[in-house]
Amino acid sequence: MAEKHIIILGPPGSGKGTQAVRIAEQLGLKHLSTGDVLRESLAAGSDLGMKAKAFMDRGLLVPDKVMLGLIEKELCTLNGSGWILDGFPRTLPQAQELTRMLEDLEIEVDHIIRIDVDSGTIVKRISGRRVCESCKAVYNTASMQGGECEKCGGKLIKRQDDEESTILRRFRVYEEQTQPVLDYYTGGGAELITIDGSKKIDDITADIFRAVK
Ligand code: AMP
Repeated sequence: MAEKHIIILGPPGSGKGTQAVRIAEQLGLKHLSTGDVLRESLAAGSDLGMKAKAFMDRGLLVPDKVMLGLIEKELCTLNGSGWILDGFPRTLPQAQELTRMLEDLEIEVDHIIRIDVDSGTIVKRISGRRVCESCKAVYNTASMQGGECEKCGGKLIKRQDDEESTILRRFRVYEEQTQPVLDYYTGGGAELITIDGSKKIDDITADIFRAVK
């Protein structure tokens, strides 16, 4: 079977990153998170990271021009493998440009997964979110044991953009800017799958696997 190409969309805190990692592991896909690429660029002190920082800290989207340069480079690197795109596209121009890039690369998207969840659930979830400084594994204060990563022993930290006011702004930005992306994909070539993101993480994973198998 040809390797799959999947896009996963969802508001901040919908668990899309966690689900993307699980899907990538299970289906043998490369996981490309634009948020992770930006955070790594920032940690490395690169130009891209510096440009993105002010937007990320305020819960705003990084300008399309910057993101399109990033994704084009990453897609070329990933060419030949199956992948799951996590956090891209987030605006209509990004979605339209992505279609053009994928046509050039002769790649068809198999599934577009949209995780649906309301802002109240998200605020509760994100304010307890902790991320491993080293390997980026994600935890929640409600379920984690101690302050160290179970996978690599790294320090667990709170992301700067996970403060409550920033979370709400990011949610509004998602609603305003990413809804047109969902409309763009509705009725398109790939199957648009809506998943209830208010369920427990493992149940969401099960729903996704049922839908993409
Ligand atoms: P995430 O880890 O996907 O929640 O992304 C964290 C932050 O990175 C977002 O709040 C944006 O500031 C920025 N970002 C990630 N992906 C994109 C994108 N496709 N377009 C614009 N900004 C992005």
